[in-house]
Amino acid sequence: MKCPAQDFIELSKEFNIPEDVDLETLKLQKEEIEKRQNDPKYEAIVYSHSKFYNYPNPYHAGSETFNPDDFGYEKVKEPDVLLWVQVFRPEKRNASYYKYNYARFPNFSIDQEFIVLGCQYLTELRDKIDCISDRAIPGDYSDYPELPPETTCKDLYKSGFFYIDGTFYNDMRHPDCRDYSEPIISWAASSNRGIGPFRKASMEKCKFIDLDIQLGYPYVYVHQGECEHLIVFSDMQYYTHYYCKNRLEYPLHISLKPKRRVLCMICRLHTAEWIVFDNKRLPENPFYFCKICFFSFNYDENNQKIGNFRAYHHIDRSNIL
Ligand SMILES: [Zn+2]
Ligand SMILES: [Zn+2]
Repeated sequence: MKCPAQDFIELSKEFNIPEDVDLETLKLQKEEIEKRQNDPKYEAIVYSHSKFYNYPNPYHAGSETFNPDDFGYEKVKEPDVLLWVQVFRPEKRNASYYKYNYARFPNFSIDQEFIVLGCQYLTELRDKIDCISDRAIPGDYSDYPELPPETTCKDLYKSGFFYIDGTFYNDMRHPDCRDYSEPIISWAASSNRGIGPFRKASMEKCKFIDLDIQLGYPYVYVHQGECEHLIVFSDMQYYTHYYCKNRLEYPLHISLKPKRRVLCMICRLHTAEWIVFDNKRLPENPFYFCKICFFSFNYDENNQKIGNFRAYHHIDRSNIL
């Protein structure tokens, strides 16, 4: 699968088409390139929608946060394959949605995207997936809003699984981890729904190269009890030196467009940091506040709570890379 010069082959936006070729495809490509060169606005639109030019240079991908002193360097062992993994936004449905039996329609926007190596364990990907339900800070802080938050949901609830091709890969690295797949497996076995049988395996013992996957097919990642993400392997390539050579930087994070933030509902300027429930002085429930507006609206000059309400820390999606 490898050709001798491939480590030196460069992919580039500048691509010169020879003059004496009359292939229709090349003629069209030439017109397209000229159009981009003559119209910067058009060029910007094309590149902002193009999958490949939007990827960071794989040599440098991840290096903006990478410090060799922290991670060290370990050369990628060859041969290996690279897998592109898309992690979708979690499902968010309230209880009434299920109560009225609306058809389940998954959320089709990509939250994060990674490149993993075939030799890596599934847990290595799991540890890189950043989700607001892991970062959430549990508890009502309205009586002591100045108190720094102690724990996140990730510290408290470490369980999770990937569901890929009939197998539940449970993360059982920590003694507190629960087997999320057990109730699903026994429910499937006891009902007459014609699904299953399912298999069970350990996430920490399975490598990507051992998986039987289909590109473009949706699989599932579940954590925090019911935070459910679709997972899609979108592409697979033979590892070449064009990509990052440091094994320790994988799974490589691929930057996507910045995420839309939740704005403070008072100033409409700053990102929300608090979410307030059941406050009769507010027109909407829940209500989002930035830090400044939260304190000036909900506490008096002696830092006493005005009225009754519950207040929780809000971790905004725009904090996630
Ligand atoms: Zn999640
Ligand atoms: Zn504000």
